[in-house]
Amino acid sequence: ALKAGIVGLPNVGKSTLFNAITQAGAESANYPFCTIDPNVGVVEVPDERLDKLTELVVPNRTVPTAFEFVDIAGLVRGASKGEGLGNKFLAHIREVDAIVHVVRCFEDENITHVDGKINPISDIQTINLELILADLDSVEKKIERSRKNMKGGNKQYAQEVEVLERVKEALYNDMPARSIELSDDEKAIVRDLHLLTLKPVLYAANVSEDGVTEADSNPFVQQVREFAAAENAEVVPISAKVEAEIAELEGEDKAMFLEELGLDASGLDRLIQAAYRLLGLYTYFTAGVQEVRAWTIRKGTKAPGAAGVIHSDFERGFIRAEVVSYNDLVAAGSMNVAKERGQLRLEGKEYVVQDGDVMHFRFNV
Ligand code: GDP
Repeated sequence: ALKAGIVGLPNVGKSTLFNAITQAGAESANYPFCTIDPNVGVVEVPDERLDKLTELVVPNRTVPTAFEFVDIAGLVRGASKGEGLGNKFLAHIREVDAIVHVVRCFEDENITHVDGKINPISDIQTINLELILADLDSVEKKIERSRKNMKGGNKQYAQEVEVLERVKEALYNDMPARSIELSDDEKAIVRDLHLLTLKPVLYAANVSEDGVTEADSNPFVQQVREFAAAENAEVVPISAKVEAEIAELEGEDKAMFLEELGLDASGLDRLIQAAYRLLGLYTYFTAGVQEVRAWTIRKGTKAPGAAGVIHSDFERGFIRAEVVSYNDLVAAGSMNVAKERGQLRLEGKEYVVQDGDVMHFRFNV
């Protein structure tokens, strides 16, 4: 399953946020493929389209799609030099698909900041520097190997060295590897290194509980937004403490509490949606009377691969898929009307599934 890792300096609110995530917890019976680990929280992805399909089909149950958040605590200054449990944590980051970087934007005299004062940009740079140093180490080692191989006169290694030197240059200038423009070939060369700074990042600006509704006028949040804009990264203001409280409530109580706070959705929902987008994923739906359900695929997945997300038998025995796009189905108001309008298509093995496709698979067992 795809994973987003939560990182940040000590005392910025990572555990508080992670606890809110596990509290809000997904119904694990629905997601047997997810990891069972105290450092992993499974979250359901809120999706309005799923609510709409539920209204249309009125199924016995509705199941959102899910992904995992991994709590990567313990990243401190000097981690790349093995400080703290440094290298171990960097190894954990290597395994995630995207990074949620929690940044402290709340003031509280009772909670020490590791550097003595609140300074979100300096916090971000501290963590980023560790990731950059770790990447520099990987890139330099690889350059050394490629140079040795180059002596045999192989052009492939010369290209490798050229690309890696560009990455190294960027890292030396404190720029993450994701900031470099790379062709597909070049990306393939770099991908092998599993660089930490190549992973997409979103900043979770942790604001104080009394500042959630005016988060955007918080000067710390503004600083983070400016910094993130230069990196093409997204920012989600959130109050970890409020989220921990919201996560303990359900249904009506939750709605009332949100209303009191002047919020229309929990920050956690917004964070989950932003992280899901960051992972670069598509959602397709199945919509039967038993179950309306959202499924996650990577962009570019063909129909049999999408069927395989439900069950490997569906992929193995794939014959065809009946497909209607979400917008067509909702505009039609029912599957039958969509069919009459000729919007229900039969697609084969080569069909590339689109975000929002509503699919029904035909397969041999
Ligand atoms: P971590 O070290 O990053 O995991 O940080 P924790 O989640 O353990 O939080 C450190 C301290 O900050 C705890 O005492 C939290 O209760 C507190 N904290 C976290 N978020 C907020 C917040 O939004 N406002 C305030 N006042 N305190 C917070």
